[in-house]
Amino acid sequence: MPADIDQIIKKSQESCASTGAKLTSKRKNVLTVLLTSSTPLSAYEVVERYKKQFNESLPVMSVYRMLDFLIQEKLVHKLETAGQYVTCAHIACDHQHESPQFLICDRCHAVKEIGIKKQIMAELEHSIQSTGFTLMHNQLELHGLCERCQNKTESSANPV
Ligand SMILES: [Zn+2]
Ligand SMILES: [Zn+2]
Ligand SMILES: [Zn+2]
Repeated sequence: MPADIDQIIKKSQESCASTGAKLTSKRKNVLTVLLTSSTPLSAYEVVERYKKQFNESLPVMSVYRMLDFLIQEKLVHKLETAGQYVTCAHIACDHQHESPQFLICDRCHAVKEIGIKKQIMAELEHSIQSTGFTLMHNQLELHGLCERCQNKTESSANPV
């Protein structure tokens, strides 16, 4: 989870303003819900948490629309295979965004966004296309165990 949510929200407002878009208070709240979650959330989970955090019920359709907006503004990514949403790990960064790929922990469901160099992705896409396959999504979602869960496994296997 990002350390400084206020800072990230401020950056998000600036980046929306630079594209002429408006981070309305509801959109900002949806982003906050995702920022305060340690795991990716489905649209329905966003609705539930929004209700708890902001005391307001939103129709799931409008949450989908707000999530689409946040994706378009590159503040949020969608994990296609799980149908869940996660905030971009680089909102507060100034460097160029590499092609975002995701490492998903199957135990604690934490997601780590990693940048894979565009050149490597281009090579991958090229070899896929050479098989005659048409690629619709080029987002990788790789499953495994995060560092923390691996350490947990080790310490429970070797009790002190
Ligand atoms: Zn990102
Ligand atoms: Zn970064
Ligand atoms: Zn984990």
